[in-house]
Amino acid sequence: MSDQKRLGREMLEHLKFYKDLGVQWADRIERGKPEMKVRPKTAAAPHVAESLKKTVVADTSLFDSSPGKEETLASIRADIGDCQRCKLAKTRNSIVFGSGNPKADLMFIGEAPGAEEDAQGLPFVGRAGQLLTKIVEAIEMRREEVFICNIIKCRPPQNRNPESDEIAACEPFLFRQIAAIKPKVICALGTYGAQTLLRTKEPISRLRGQFIDYRGAKLMATFHPAYLLRNPQEKRRVWEDVLKIRDYLRSLR
Ligand code: URA
Repeated sequence: MSDQKRLGREMLEHLKFYKDLGVQWADRIERGKPEMKVRPKTAAAPHVAESLKKTVVADTSLFDSSPGKEETLASIRADIGDCQRCKLAKTRNSIVFGSGNPKADLMFIGEAPGAEEDAQGLPFVGRAGQLLTKIVEAIEMRREEVFICNIIKCRPPQNRNPESDEIAACEPFLFRQIAAIKPKVICALGTYGAQTLLRTKEPISRLRGQFIDYRGAKLMATFHPAYLLRNPQEKRRVWEDVLKIRDYLRSLR
């Protein structure tokens, strides 16, 4: 494919992403009435502190999480059982284990289930979830192709942030899920998800936008879809991040 064709295709994909995400002017531009420039500024690569890079690169590989045994998602789910390991068991309706392709190349990790997820037992099925589905589709993947889950599996009351004892009780199951799925890329959604996975207090604005070695996979942090619903101007940055994911996965094929 010529460079010009590729550029044209990329611009159309870009517009489709904005349009699908509900940006009005993208529709007008796609129909040939440019009202504003859409070329994204090439964001200065956010800088992750060297100390963080070192910590994460030195982290255990994906395969060290369950030495000597290959687990399935079904056996991990069975192990969770009717979990009573933390206080969230008292207020939850469902354990939201995660859903999608058990051999996914791409895994999305959010923070915690919300009300809709707690009611349905499925991750990212509310408004933020619908936006996540559009983001997945914008990089020409289907939701069923990826795996979607959260740091913790039960909804915190009033959607408060998960507490450290809750994370400590739940996180081993997430690590086992990562080890069973062996994704090539993990996309951490939002401040809380990224900071918890990376054991850092760096703001998401500095963590996002670049690959970090993580448990045998490449981790890309980006803004949470719920944040995008409140701050639609940040969609451009998410688009940049997910394009990097798409291009990396394509480069492996
Ligand atoms: N937000 C999350 O972080 N996870 C969900 O499953 C839904 C909303």
